[in-house]
Amino acid sequence: MKGRTLLMIPGPVEFEPDVLQALGAPTTSHVAPEFIEVFGQALERMREVWFCPTGQPFVVAGSGMLAMEMAVVNLIEPGDKALVLSTGVFGDRYAELLKRYGVEVTVLRAPLGETISLSEVDAALHAQRYNLMTITHVDTSTGVRVDAQALGALGCKHDVLTVLDGVCSLGAEQLYQEQWGIDVALTTSQKAIGVPPGLALLVVSPKALSTWRKRKSPVANYYADWANWLPVMEAYEGRKPSYFGTPAVNLICALHVSLGIILKEGMKTRFLRHCRLGKACKAAVNALGLDQVPTDPAHAAATLTAPYYPDGITGVEFLPRVKAAGAILAGGLHPEIKDRYFRVGHMGATNPGDLLATIGAIETALLDCGYQCKLGGGVAAAQRTLRS
Ligand SMILES: *Cc1c(COP(=O)(O)O)cnc(C)c1O
Repeated sequence: MKGRTLLMIPGPVEFEPDVLQALGAPTTSHVAPEFIEVFGQALERMREVWFCPTGQPFVVAGSGMLAMEMAVVNLIEPGDKALVLSTGVFGDRYAELLKRYGVEVTVLRAPLGETISLSEVDAALHAQRYNLMTITHVDTSTGVRVDAQALGALGCKHDVLTVLDGVCSLGAEQLYQEQWGIDVALTTSQKAIGVPPGLALLVVSPKALSTWRKRKSPVANYYADWANWLPVMEAYEGRKPSYFGTPAVNLICALHVSLGIILKEGMKTRFLRHCRLGKACKAAVNALGLDQVPTDPAHAAATLTAPYYPDGITGVEFLPRVKAAGAILAGGLHPEIKDRYFRVGHMGATNPGDLLATIGAIETALLDCGYQCKLGGGVAAAQRTLRS
């Protein structure tokens, strides 16, 4: 990988060489015994990574958007009510998606950069009966993390199904799906799970499956219908062949390897590592004198950092320079502030060396743009955090 520019966006991210190797292996039949074993093990490993021993995992070819759609479309019927908690673009997308299926949607939207107020959620759930509540664990457009544990508890208290978009958190931020009472926790391959784009991944609680079984109308999306995929998942886990749509064989082989690497690292170690990387990046950004989109470090994600540009600098000048200095970063996504901030992803296989190189590249690019900052100031701040 020498000579390659670091990919430090909030997904796709840097991947482990063993994962990429699995992706490049000759493709087998999707019903070959060795593939059935790999798929079966991958499903078992998901339960461990999600901390959901009684959950039902689903692996389907598609991006995170499909995972979002598949999670809710099986649980709602026209005329149902959903409460959408939004801390950015992906929360808002959930509202759009649900409306498309005839759901009556109420959006609880946090002010830009702030997290969701638990008392407002409690009050909203008390005021009206909802069938479903969606939670964006980390909204990648703002870098805001919500308190998924407390929100899961509120869902249980008010007996509403909870769907957690963990696309920018699962496998990096603390999440104990079963213990926290989350009914569906979903993600996609290319973020903290560490596999190139192409897989929608979800784990569904027994309660959500039983709601699905009791529905009166057919699921309005044929491809995403659990009725088509549940027998396939059960068969592969029972080490038997099955077919609805051809599984993404190579991606599933890569997923199997990546989940193995994740579990070998250990979930607690992995959560701590991400926490430390996140803090180090934020300390560096602070030291360079840049503000950040999340208004309080307590609700800033460990998986990405979202700094505002200094006055007078835009992405048009900054992003090509930071790339030339060795790191590919992402521009803004939130429509209100799109051109005023950038995003650094640091999840999955990202190591301290990658982060320090990225901060060095940010310093160089800022200086090249004419911003006065101390060369090495950000790197030193990150080093101090990483050593503490
Ligand atoms: C990236 C992302 C998505 C969408 O995933 P795609 O694979 O791009 O479709 C959804 N939600 C969150 C929080 C994300 O970060």
